Amino acid sequence: MRNIIAANWEMNFSIQEAESTAKDMVKKIKKSPADILVCASFVHLDRLSKIFKNSIIKLGAQNMHFEEKGAFTGETSPVMLKSVNCEYVILGHSERRHIFKEDDGFINKKVKSALTHGLTPILCVGETLDERNSGQAFDVVSRQIKKGFESLLDTSDVIIAYEPVWAIGTGVAADIETISEMHDFIRSMVKNSPILYGGSVKPKNAEELSQIENVDGFLVGGASLKAEDFKDIIEKFIKIRWG
Ligand code: PEP
Repeated sequence: MRNIIAANWEMNFSIQEAESTAKDMVKKIKKSPADILVCASFVHLDRLSKIFKNSIIKLGAQNMHFEEKGAFTGETSPVMLKSVNCEYVILGHSERRHIFKEDDGFINKKVKSALTHGLTPILCVGETLDERNSGQAFDVVSRQIKKGFESLLDTSDVIIAYEPVWAIGTGVAADIETISEMHDFIRSMVKNSPILYGGSVKPKNAEELSQIENVDGFLVGGASLKAEDFKDIIEKFIKIRWG
């Protein structure tokens, strides 16, 4: 299975900060058997594409609209993303689902549009704490995947990121057993998509998390804002997987 370590910079950095962090990453991250990518704000993408051009780091966006163009004020289309050499796009991140009320049907349209335009979608799934505590975690994730993948003939070009909402940005990752169970469950549903784990991945827990079967990489938020920490996470994953 393909391995991927993706940075999600969320809504952080001025263009100057984004540039200097990206340059630092290019200097520090020279080779990796896993694919490495940075998903940044729309404002940063064009500059970053130039900085990453001759490096191993690939570029991703954090959202997009499914239409190619038109009267959708404030939105960004897949065609626009392609025009700045973007290759990946995060879709259905829990912040989009919960703060901006994106539902599974809307996210499914984006997944299909991304694939049509040659972008690799990273479909985020994950339950809230209430859903977990009421025993619905597997139903929620299963629904998000089934609906997110609806009417797709081939899912091998879609990356799944399991991000339990209660572990995102809290500093406390889900425990090994929880991650392991959910990744095995997702693997039983989807045979050929890489499954990333996201939710408080840090240099200090990266080694432990890298050992979990069916974790094909990470989606890293806060810890990806420092090139050194992101590099550290990548190196730990490589050390566990390739020795
Ligand atoms: C995220 O924003 O997708 C994320 C996983 O954040 P963090 O690593 O900070 O929990």
